[in-house]
Amino acid sequence: MISSIEKIRLRYKKDAHFKKRLEELYRAMDSKYKAAADFYEFACTGCEDNCCFTRFYHHTFVEYFYILDGFEALEHEKRMEVKKRADEVCKKSNAADEKGAPVRLLCPLNIDSLCSLYQYRPMICRLHGVPHELNTPERGISRTPGCGYFMKQHKDKDYFSFDRSSLYLEMAKLERDFRQKAGALDKVKLTVAEMLSAYHF
Ligand code: SF4
Repeated sequence: MISSIEKIRLRYKKDAHFKKRLEELYRAMDSKYKAAADFYEFACTGCEDNCCFTRFYHHTFVEYFYILDGFEALEHEKRMEVKKRADEVCKKSNAADEKGAPVRLLCPLNIDSLCSLYQYRPMICRLHGVPHELNTPERGISRTPGCGYFMKQHKDKDYFSFDRSSLYLEMAKLERDFRQKAGALDKVKLTVAEMLSAYHF
């Protein structure tokens, strides 16, 4: 029997322009991020606090399905390895949650310090690291510092205004348009590990 998520994904596959819009948005993110990183001369070369250990949740169908597109493009053996890792991460996370223990597990896509789906990685993975700000009519400008590694290396440098507002807004519009088209009401709150563990071959 076809699940409701599979039905929603079929709609995503049918309307290729949602994927195209997401790819355009990712390009805009990469370019804005690069401008900020270049300003600070910041390059992430890996660190002990590796952000791939962070339990990031993702909230959009478009990003979820884009990750699955990338996953399906992997060669069979790699896909099996990633799936096994995802299952293990979910199992350990659930066990830790039951005990109320903190969870710090490496994303199943991080293999030998490289993201196996770098081109498909979600928004938060693209934007994490350098300080940023949000500008909303309700709250004005709110600033968030960079990651621990950034702050150690670059905290005394001049400030570069990396405003994520338009990027978030465009992501929200894209997701809203997709949900309207697909008639999708389900909430999304998934880690990459959960997305891949739930995948059925
Ligand atoms: S998707 Fe890639 S960049 Fe993001 S946490 Fe996983 S391995 Fe790291």
